[in-house]
Amino acid sequence: MIQIATSWLLLLPVLFGLGWLASRWDLRLENRMDERERMRQQRSTFKGLSLLLNEQPDQAIETLVKIAQLDPETIELHFSLGNLFRRRGETERAIRVHQHLASRDDLKPRDRDHAAYELGRDFLRAGLLDRAEASLNRVGDGKYAAPAKESLLEMYQIERDWKKAIIAAAELESLQDKSHQTEIAQFHCELAQEALRRKDLSEAEQAIERALQAVPNHARSLILQGDYLVALERPAQAIEVWNMVANTHPAYMHLLADRWMAAHTAIDKADAGLDRLCELLKTQATGELLDIVQKHLTQIRGAQAAEVMLTDVMQHSPSLSALSKLAETRLALAETNGSPERIADLKATLSLLKQRTTSLVRYTCGNCGFRARRFYWQCPGCNHWEAYSPRRSEGAVPSGPSM
Ligand SMILES: [Zn+2]
Repeated sequence: MIQIATSWLLLLPVLFGLGWLASRWDLRLENRMDERERMRQQRSTFKGLSLLLNEQPDQAIETLVKIAQLDPETIELHFSLGNLFRRRGETERAIRVHQHLASRDDLKPRDRDHAAYELGRDFLRAGLLDRAEASLNRVGDGKYAAPAKESLLEMYQIERDWKKAIIAAAELESLQDKSHQTEIAQFHCELAQEALRRKDLSEAEQAIERALQAVPNHARSLILQGDYLVALERPAQAIEVWNMVANTHPAYMHLLADRWMAAHTAIDKADAGLDRLCELLKTQATGELLDIVQKHLTQIRGAQAAEVMLTDVMQHSPSLSALSKLAETRLALAETNGSPERIADLKATLSLLKQRTTSLVRYTCGNCGFRARRFYWQCPGCNHWEAYSPRRSEGAVPSGPSM
């Protein structure tokens, strides 16, 4: 019996050894499984990315969602997923992903700001402006402060809440090394225009003053200041202000030429007003000003005077628009004393020229290339202010977006 017990005792170290080996084996097995899991995740990530690169976003999203579910710690992946949903127009899913991130307690302040910013962008995209504003206002100082303020500025402009836009633009200036005074002047101009429409002249005066403080000698502010003076029944003073536009921003004169003539007529100086506009045509004959001057010249001095002016313009600034106006004036003259053949000839020429000019004559945004028949202070294509050249062009047939 004792002999058996001793042999068992001798077996003990061997059993320990076997146990140790088994535990090592187990650990190695576990490690290998972890490694395999990691490899699988990595493969899934790469698969997701390659699907994205191959522009198969549906499959890419499915793959990436699986990884995010397997490992809820992957914050960056959640952000990428949320942005991907938003870009695809799936704002509800984007909101869910970003809301989940924003509600996590374990997030670093920077990631929380990031989540609040992305959530604000989602709400903005979904048109839920109140919620967008609340979320964007939650973003603290740091990396996302300026982008959040930019989004707020964009939103206030969509809402046409110019007062809030002015504050946001000023705050953005303090966050960035970039001037926003042109936008601020334009926001004050929008307020002035609204006030003039409601005949609230003291509010209009204040807004114009502030616009001119932001950008001295600002073209639109001066145009509005003239409108304000006309509303006060002070046409002579309005002309004085508009003269500053004529001297320093002559390219914008087409925006006020009709009112300029009305103000001059009100003080019995229509001739002087018309002479000044004709003088401006020496440098501004390619734009809309020519149409307006031709109209007033015909009304005040007759078609003959308009023909002389247009012949002169065709000498120094030839354009299809000027040629079309010349044909129009000659047709008016022929209709009173011309032969039926000449009238028919001029009508054919005019209809051809009008076809060409209506399809070609456009204002073009210098920022995004958007082309439009009328002038805009803010581009409807890219929302940039003062991006349109006030000079209308007769470029080639538009290839980009236009209206
Ligand atoms: Zn544009």
